[in-house]
Amino acid sequence: MQDRRTARRKAIIRRRIFFGGCFLSLALLVAVIVFIVNAVVTNNNDDGVSSNGENSATSEVTSSKTEEVVSSGPTMVTMGEYTLDADFSMLLLVNAQNPLPDTYDSDVRADLVEIDKIYRNNDNVTQIHKDVYPYITAMVANAQKDGVDLKVWSPFRSYAIQKDLFNKQVARVGGDEAKAATVVARPGTSEHNTGLCADFNMASDTFETTKMYEWMVENAEDYGFVMRYSAEKQAITGVIHESWHWRFVGIKNAKQMNALGLCLEEYVEHLDKQN
Ligand SMILES: [Zn+2]
Repeated sequence: MQDRRTARRKAIIRRRIFFGGCFLSLALLVAVIVFIVNAVVTNNNDDGVSSNGENSATSEVTSSKTEEVVSSGPTMVTMGEYTLDADFSMLLLVNAQNPLPDTYDSDVRADLVEIDKIYRNNDNVTQIHKDVYPYITAMVANAQKDGVDLKVWSPFRSYAIQKDLFNKQVARVGGDEAKAATVVARPGTSEHNTGLCADFNMASDTFETTKMYEWMVENAEDYGFVMRYSAEKQAITGVIHESWHWRFVGIKNAKQMNALGLCLEEYVEHLDKQN
């Protein structure tokens, strides 16, 4: 009797040990699974796959390359008392083959700002695109500080003004519209309709003999401007050499275009090929 009880107790103890072992193994397994799941989730967050679907590239930089976060923002450059964003890019291509959409003339009005009188010498056309304003005013102010009387002559022009100019040019060349278009762009194909460019001091070849021109050749790229129509590129741009007409493209773009010797048509194509 005593032996049977002892045997049963032993059997119970053995069973308890067995189930206890099973429970411990199961607990260990659950702990391992929780650990693995947690590691996977953390790893995903490191890859920038955030729950709200925000840019993963930014998160990746933030988690692994802290120093680059600083340099991945805008590159600010100081020009005298002006601070400009060197990364800002404005590559809208407008020419005879790439006219502006019909709605542009009315849409752009909301983006135009008045150029202060100290920067210009023409009261008939006085506005420029707001994105270009900080760059053009810094450029003219610094030129004036250098003793160079640079002034904005003709910045933004409406379709109506451009149409009037074009018609006058057509009359001047005896009704030949194609010939007129090499000198005055048809409305909707002129950069002046964008507010992203300006003629300086006077719209004539005389500009090329001035100190203002010399200063522009040396400094305009530092403010994001390029001479848009050179004699060498006439076959590509379709426009005669205009020493007075400068287009804003952004500081980095301007420097790169000059270094590579590319006009805007070529530069846009060059960037397309790279991407
Ligand atoms: Zn012009």
